[in-house]
Amino acid sequence: MNGLLIKGGRVIDPASGTDGVRDVLIVDGRIAGVGTGLKANGAAVIDAKGLVVSPGFVDLHVHLREPGQEGKETIATGTRAAAKGGVTSLACMPNTVPPLDSPALIGHVLHKAATEGVVRVYPVGCISHERNGEVMADLAALREAGAVAFSDDGNAVMNALLTRRAMVNVKALGVPYVEHAEDEHLLDGGVMHEGRTSLRLGLPGRTSLAEDVIVARDLILAEAAGAHVHIAHISSAGSVALVRDARRRGIRATAEVTPHHLLLTDEAVGEFDTRCKVNPPLRDEPHRQALIAGVVDGTIQAIATDHAPHGPLDKDVEFTSAASGMVGLETLLPVCLEALVHPGHLDLPGLLARLTHLPARLFDLPGGTLDVGAPGDLCVFDEKAAWVLDARTLASRSHNTPFDGRKLTGRVVHTIVGGRVIVRDGALT
Ligand SMILES: [Zn+2]
Repeated sequence: MNGLLIKGGRVIDPASGTDGVRDVLIVDGRIAGVGTGLKANGAAVIDAKGLVVSPGFVDLHVHLREPGQEGKETIATGTRAAAKGGVTSLACMPNTVPPLDSPALIGHVLHKAATEGVVRVYPVGCISHERNGEVMADLAALREAGAVAFSDDGNAVMNALLTRRAMVNVKALGVPYVEHAEDEHLLDGGVMHEGRTSLRLGLPGRTSLAEDVIVARDLILAEAAGAHVHIAHISSAGSVALVRDARRRGIRATAEVTPHHLLLTDEAVGEFDTRCKVNPPLRDEPHRQALIAGVVDGTIQAIATDHAPHGPLDKDVEFTSAASGMVGLETLLPVCLEALVHPGHLDLPGLLARLTHLPARLFDLPGGTLDVGAPGDLCVFDEKAAWVLDARTLASRSHNTPFDGRKLTGRVVHTIVGGRVIVRDGALT
């Protein structure tokens, strides 16, 4: 029997409401049972006593940088970083070089993921040809090739007519329209959140209104088309309120938020720390509190990393010309614990729901549950383990994290994908 038995951990499966000491048996890559006193019958055994056993995390927003920017990340390194962070399924964004606007490129990513990756990779296709924001890509052909959602992530689709037409198409295809919601005119050349810190540093600001305006437009167009609109990396109090209201009115609107927007504010930019330069920007405390409230009340269903690797050539430069983004896969769990669980906003099952079955459902991905027959994907972690991050030890090819040197609590111990142990005792196998 090709099996793996994870014995005696605190099994939390938010989809089924399971929370208790159990064994989990995986046979032939799939969950074969969750219960007490399960027998190995020749299966390999992992002792999980004192550890939490969760479905593997599902991250809806990752930049793998391949093809085209392999100096920053590859499918091989990015999926290893995912595994180290407990992520067993990820959606990768199409703003590669060239962008994922053709079935051949979607196929290329899937082939690379199958041959060189260690977690499940689900590509997101471009909305527009060459991400030019004007001419729609062949969404049906991209869907046929394996795209699970559509986005011009990196930029908003500024052409409302294109958005309208794309929403009609994604509705027919049964997949979400994913918006990077920042109106490029309202951004007005800003490089961080427009507020007290940008004034102190003398940096041009990006108003949160730039996000709100695109979210409002998309909600109107999604309602008309009957489409599912998903707001990527939501960051402003205004857009949380808009999505909450739209959901109450029955519009199919969902959202994800990043761990860094939940934990940090614009003050983290400090003295021009480019590691804290992200799009949308880290905002101020009232915005952060609105995001937490949105996660707690279900306006925001998913936590997604927006893992965005950049090298020193793009980050060790003056703030205004630095690239935007930070890596996040390998700090996902501890940052979420610090932002949401330790202050008492969510309990552990509540957090895990937003990292597993809720995001899986948004993009209709397999996984995220421990149902019998589900993929044998697990994250086994020590909720209490304290450690200090050394960015040089990251599996990601890039080390652009503001959490370097920070004391973190909560550490991934084992990551299992399809019954294969990819990370054992915190190290890639
Ligand atoms: Zn984005």
